[in-house]
Amino acid sequence: MAKEKNVYFFGDGKAEGDAGMRDVLGGKGANLAEMTNIGIPVPPGFTISTNVCAEYYAKGKKYPAGLEKEILTVLKKLETVMKKKLGDPVDPLLVSVRSGSAVSMPGMMDTILNLGINDKSVKGLAQKSQNPRFAWDAYRRFIQMYGDVVMLVPHEKFESCLANLKKSRKVSEDNDLNAADLEFLVNEYKKLVKAHSKKDFPQDPLEQLWGSINAVLDSWMNERAIKYRQLNDIRNVLGTAVNVQSMVYGNYGNDSGTGVCFSRDPSTGENIFYGEYLMNAQGEDVVAGIRTPQKLSGLVKTNKKVYEQLVGIKNKLENHFRDMQDMEFTIEKGILYILQTRNGKRTGTAAVKIAVDMVNEKLIDKETAVLRVSPAHLDQLLHPMIDLNAQRSARVLSKGLNASPGAACGRIVFTAKDAEDWHKRNEKVLLVRKDTSPEDIGGMAVSEGILTSTGGMTSHAAVVARGMGTPCICGAKGVTVDAKHVSIEGKSFKEGDWLTIDGSSGEVYEGKLPLISRDISKDKDVTAVLKWSDDIRNRAVRGKIKGFQVRTNADQPSDAKRAFDFGADGIGLCRTEHMFFEKEKLIHFRAMIVSDTKEERKNALAKILPLQQNDFFGIFKAMEGRPVTIRLLDPPLHEFVPRDKKEIEELAKYLGIKVKDLMPKIEKLAETNPMLGHRGCRLAVTHPEIYDIQVEAISLAAAECIRNGIPVDPEIMIPIVVTARELKLLRPNAEKIIKMVSEKTKIPLKFKIGTMIEVPRAAIRSGHIAKYADFFSFGTNDLTQTTFAFSRDDSASFLVSYLDQKVLDVDPFKSIDEEGVGFLVAYATREGRAVNPDLKVGICGEHGGDPVTIDFCYRAGLSYVSCSPFRVPLARLAGAHAVLRNPGEGGGKPDVKKTAKKVAKKAAKKAAAAKKTPAGTKGKKTAKSKAAKSAKAKAAKGKAEKPAKAVKVHERTKPKAAGKIKPRAEKKAKSGGNKKKSAGSKKK
Ligand code: PEP
Ligand code: MG
Repeated sequence: MAKEKNVYFFGDGKAEGDAGMRDVLGGKGANLAEMTNIGIPVPPGFTISTNVCAEYYAKGKKYPAGLEKEILTVLKKLETVMKKKLGDPVDPLLVSVRSGSAVSMPGMMDTILNLGINDKSVKGLAQKSQNPRFAWDAYRRFIQMYGDVVMLVPHEKFESCLANLKKSRKVSEDNDLNAADLEFLVNEYKKLVKAHSKKDFPQDPLEQLWGSINAVLDSWMNERAIKYRQLNDIRNVLGTAVNVQSMVYGNYGNDSGTGVCFSRDPSTGENIFYGEYLMNAQGEDVVAGIRTPQKLSGLVKTNKKVYEQLVGIKNKLENHFRDMQDMEFTIEKGILYILQTRNGKRTGTAAVKIAVDMVNEKLIDKETAVLRVSPAHLDQLLHPMIDLNAQRSARVLSKGLNASPGAACGRIVFTAKDAEDWHKRNEKVLLVRKDTSPEDIGGMAVSEGILTSTGGMTSHAAVVARGMGTPCICGAKGVTVDAKHVSIEGKSFKEGDWLTIDGSSGEVYEGKLPLISRDISKDKDVTAVLKWSDDIRNRAVRGKIKGFQVRTNADQPSDAKRAFDFGADGIGLCRTEHMFFEKEKLIHFRAMIVSDTKEERKNALAKILPLQQNDFFGIFKAMEGRPVTIRLLDPPLHEFVPRDKKEIEELAKYLGIKVKDLMPKIEKLAETNPMLGHRGCRLAVTHPEIYDIQVEAISLAAAECIRNGIPVDPEIMIPIVVTARELKLLRPNAEKIIKMVSEKTKIPLKFKIGTMIEVPRAAIRSGHIAKYADFFSFGTNDLTQTTFAFSRDDSASFLVSYLDQKVLDVDPFKSIDEEGVGFLVAYATREGRAVNPDLKVGICGEHGGDPVTIDFCYRAGLSYVSCSPFRVPLARLAGAHAVLRNPGEGGGKPDVKKTAKKVAKKAAKKAAAAKKTPAGTKGKKTAKSKAAKSAKAKAAKGKAEKPAKAVKVHERTKPKAAGKIKPRAEKKAKSGGNKKKSAGSKKK
């Protein structure tokens, strides 16, 4: 059997891989190959596949057999192409060794630059380059990186060596050190390495190479990479590839430089070429934020030719990949090289604008545009901003770069660790630092906002904050940070003081300013993306199920109105107990609870009836004929009893009895375990008049609406059912009341009556329950609670440890547990529909707003999801993603190859039309070849966009017999909505 290929060469205009091989070559390796193939100037090199990483870990850190030979062969090829040899004392080839997995994890893994240099070759390099300073600088950088990453010498030791040297030479910048200084530094570094690791710094380039490959593979499992994967829910990725690439130098002199650029503005999405660069510098100087880089526009003045070449390349790459590109470039002695390109990370604002613009520019279709906006992007747009009134009167302390949008306020902390500690104490924190580094990821994730005194838009803080959707300002003016203080334009702040930042404007304010959320309903681009999402969901067909709706959980007319404005297709859950908690109803309701006789109870309830009727009328009106699922009373009665003295006295007075006579009635209602006690439909089994009055109020409200020409579609939902017999008993009661109201009002009324599935028994007996139900709605808050036997109110105390120790992957109250709770959902849906093919099925637990759960719900065949009003836009988008990502279920990811064909056909048609015009003959050929080119490009794009195979199967979603659902197609989109506390606490 042929041995598996592990190493892929790229260079000299040809590559062994291409953009479609992300899972094998990692994102970076695949794009380096693709760029080589399409003629972009990429320094040659080779990529060691992700399979090697997978095997390395599977075999206890051993390499696959034959890898060494493969690497030596491809290294020879590289040396031939480069006409240089690794470690050559006269003209050495130097290489970089970089990580790169299928899913981009910027800055999380290790990199080694300038590999191949040693005591001999440094001299050759100095001679050949006629630039000894450059050669010694390359060597000292290499020792510093290799010493830190491979030989584990603490980074700070190198930094203090460098600082001491600068001090003794009385210079402030690294660039002010001359060749002799750097040669001295190399010797100091070597001593440091020896002292710390008890080994000499390796001189053999192959030893250096293997040390670096090892280190890159090891960095796949370093703490920050693991944390990044956790935070971004990156799972089931094979591992990292290792890219070995010949070095080009931005620090050769003043005709050299390095930079990072984006084909469109990653903050605003505007179609402007955007970037930063530094002359006479290496890449890490830009990313680390050590020196403040210059705007790309500066390059036009100093090096017009290179700038224009760069513009041409960015246009070519954007057209090729049909997405905004984030590119790294180096200019070596006036010659331009592209070191990397990838689809650029972007803010929510930019994601939406770029997606819509690219549809208008006919670069992508609407489906692709919808997939380009993640729920997390949309969530960012819902981020708060500073209340304008407060902002007007507030003083701007400082201004920096608007690195990541949205406003945030919090108490100042100066380290990532403090941020995490304060966050655990429920404090809102704002991380203030000189700059950030990958070690800070945990603290950055829990911070409301991030403020740094140095660094540009492409610094670590900026890139990471944008990815997280955390407001961030970088390079703030007049800001000096020390261990426990920050001085902002002369004003000193200490740990714990409040600051507010506006990541959209870059402004820093003293104190805690009020924040408000943005109204995305007026944003044209957002509206377009959501409209396309709705079209995608509406046209989805899964067997008998048409569409995939998004409803909302709303209990008040105002919430219903808001949700309607946010685009809800209806109400999936109206919790009526909230209505009883209102002051004017509560006293009557309390009187009802403590009543001794049915008559007393009925009298008390009769007082509530008109009030409830009014609420329902308002909700029906707000929803303009869309379905409204009203759940009859669910919580245990004791939750309503008065607790404090004043309330007890008030109730006693209302009832005309003494407090001492009221107390036993109240005490009688106490339960040891109310969640499993007298609640839900059990209340109606013992006190049918409660549900009767609610059904009457619903019926009267519906009749009143109809009389006023307002369409209605009420659905009555009976909660906490465990057996079909409960429904068999209670359904006729409701039907009787509806009939009675219909006859009284002379308005025909017909409502659906259904149930919630909230306990495993109900799910198991769903086939029987479906005989009496027109619909099922999964109350996954309770279903999770009852399936796990984890109290939704008390599980926080142990869930953190469960997640930390990987006993569970995710909090099951946030995102559905597909293997357990999901199994029951899928089973009940199938069994229920087998008995009642028209059964409508939805979800109304908090999970209904979680994008991963939404994807599951689509695969499980649910008709709709229901979530809080603020999450409706997110759910509309996530619902469309579910449809597109699960084409087998009736949706359909755009077939990019087909699209390419379509485009080619269109272009060919155009060409044919051009033929008919007088200038046609010439035009025909051009248009035809353009069409062919375009088709090729689109096909390449197809390859580029194909989701990484390795990410496809989600461990949690593997189909099980009874669940019979397909696994989720792609990795979870990060949901900011998850930040919200689950509505676990009973009763809200
Ligand atoms: C549920 O249990 O999922 C549900 C929606 O009901 P509640 O949260 O009101 O118990
Ligand atoms: Mg419930």
